[in-house]
Amino acid sequence: MTFTFVTLFQNIIEGYFGDSILKRAIDNNLINVEYLNPRDYSLNKHNKVDDTAVSGGAGMVMNPQPLYDCLDDLKQKDMDVHIVFLTPVAKQFNQNDAKRLSKKNHIAFVSGRYEGIDERVIERYADEVYSIGDYILTGGELPSMVMCDAISRNIDGVLGNIESLDIESFETPLLEAPSFSKPANFRNNSVPKEYLKGNHSRIRSLKISLSECKSKFFRPEQLKKHIIRTSYEK
Ligand code: SAM
Repeated sequence: MTFTFVTLFQNIIEGYFGDSILKRAIDNNLINVEYLNPRDYSLNKHNKVDDTAVSGGAGMVMNPQPLYDCLDDLKQKDMDVHIVFLTPVAKQFNQNDAKRLSKKNHIAFVSGRYEGIDERVIERYADEVYSIGDYILTGGELPSMVMCDAISRNIDGVLGNIESLDIESFETPLLEAPSFSKPANFRNNSVPKEYLKGNHSRIRSLKISLSECKSKFFRPEQLKKHIIRTSYEK
């Protein structure tokens, strides 16, 4: 999978791929990360990429020209590239999106800055548009890194232990049960005793109960949906 980050601020993103799981994924040729800077496509003599809004009002908007030329160039090199724009107003990205997008060969994330991107660019080039939550960030770099990370975990071979994917929260209607690392007793604070007895079926059923408790506390709506669905299935 190739990820292309279309950004004015490559430096913000690069460091994230220099360590841990995503670095290993690059070293093992499972993912490939590229960058395109719209500024390199600007026809303005000062390489400007933004201007005031036609309608007036505060703030600068990213010009269409550098982005049109940048994205045309990208599509010319790979007409199958899947172009994703980041914007706070769109549908919120979730785990199902991450799984589906992990099957693509090439995804480009287009990061806005300032007051955002000229709407004509989004209408012309977007295959999909995502938000990562109802709050305003300074730019699309963090959201595109968030999406790239979540997608990459679902690419075959990126995670060492594939089983860890199946039990993660959002893979099933229930959140993952609480995890505890060794030692079992730390500063007089013990893990649930059942975890220590080696009876796998009892551990499994305790984990389901704990998952239900956790879901009830953190995501009561999700648990309610799960209960309604399972009672229909019976
Ligand atoms: N003026 C815009 C508005 O009110 O909708 C916000 C622009 S924001 C300061 C600049 C850029 O950051 C956006 O174009 C987008 O790329 C990115 N961004 C900010 N918050 C985001 C979020 N929650 N999800 C995805 N992208 C976001």
